[in-house]
Amino acid sequence: MQKKHRELVVFIREVFGQPTGVIPLHAPVFQGNEKKYLQECIDTTFVSSVGRFVDLFEEKLTAYCGVKRVVVCVNGTCALHLALLLCGVKPGDEVITQPFTFVATVNGIAHCSAYPVFLDVDRDTMGLSPDALQAFLADEAAKKDGGCYNRRTGRRIAACVPMHTFGHPCRIDEIVSICGEYGIEVVEDAAESIGSLYRGKHTGTFGKVGVLSFNGNKTITTGGGGALLFDDETLARLAKHLTTQAKVPHPWEFAHDQVGFNYRMPNINAALGLAQLENLDRFLKAKRRLADRYGHFCRNQGIGFVTEPVNAKSNYWLNAILLQDAAERDKFLALSNKEGVMTRPAWRLMTNLPMFQNCQTDTLSNAHWLEDRIVNIPSSVII
Ligand SMILES: *Cc1c(COP(=O)(O)O)cnc(C)c1O
Repeated sequence: MQKKHRELVVFIREVFGQPTGVIPLHAPVFQGNEKKYLQECIDTTFVSSVGRFVDLFEEKLTAYCGVKRVVVCVNGTCALHLALLLCGVKPGDEVITQPFTFVATVNGIAHCSAYPVFLDVDRDTMGLSPDALQAFLADEAAKKDGGCYNRRTGRRIAACVPMHTFGHPCRIDEIVSICGEYGIEVVEDAAESIGSLYRGKHTGTFGKVGVLSFNGNKTITTGGGGALLFDDETLARLAKHLTTQAKVPHPWEFAHDQVGFNYRMPNINAALGLAQLENLDRFLKAKRRLADRYGHFCRNQGIGFVTEPVNAKSNYWLNAILLQDAAERDKFLALSNKEGVMTRPAWRLMTNLPMFQNCQTDTLSNAHWLEDRIVNIPSSVII
């Protein structure tokens, strides 16, 4: 076992052409117009809420993802919060999601004062399982007055947030269809999956609202940033309004027609994002090449490697290996990190965290299985 582990560490160093020093899990690459656009922001003084890059970045994202409208904002977590509010999630409602995710997914739910309900994932997609969803709703939910209610708690199940784990699309069409039957709105957490397609369609465009993140460790970055994807233009307009303190347009008056948020993306972040987006297709090709090399190596070594699910094209944001059990995982984590090759276990399941430990769940057997075995390995773009 040790030998296999050591050989993988050596292979990672070889692939990144870095015989010494720390190899990060995911570092950004700035080799396009980043400096030029940032310089323009500084030269024109438009670094904040005014400037041309926000509109431009939104337009280019709209075209790239193939939606009606994109609204950018300060980060993916705020985007999730706002998306859920726009879907009508109210305090005391329930929102179904997966426990195998980054905490931001569930914080977005908690920011609405809603209760998360955790259902199992599929082993191959690592995203919310439509089978688990169907079974839960058949056993526990009742349709009433056009809404869906949890028979055990009496609360309304208002929304469902599936997540495309590490950029691998989940079975989103089935999830949307099941939720449609029960009158549950779908917010797609596509924070990790820009550039990933399911049946040829961009992730984040299947539900009522989709969410992207441009945090520093994501496939493209704005420093910090997020986006909301819409096919409903009225909802998109409302989103834009809410991100800008619900300010009513007027040449000088400060008029606000409801409680809004300061969630809009500054021009300087959008400038960085636009330059990054111009290189996204190159990044995706490089990420696929890296995943192919990892896949080939792992198959030869008898190490499990996560590849894109059926009907899906993944962006391979973070590559993942699948080890035998938690003991092997911990040995590999210790060895690789000691050698300066950054590797990370999957997140602890959300149900392990103190704030979410008493939430309703199903068996979560696949989620536990993955939690013990998944390790992410260095996945930066190699140009
Ligand atoms: C990165 C990420 C987010 C959003 O994170 P921000 O850092 O707030 O942009 C949300 N959900 C998942 C699954 C993520 O990986």
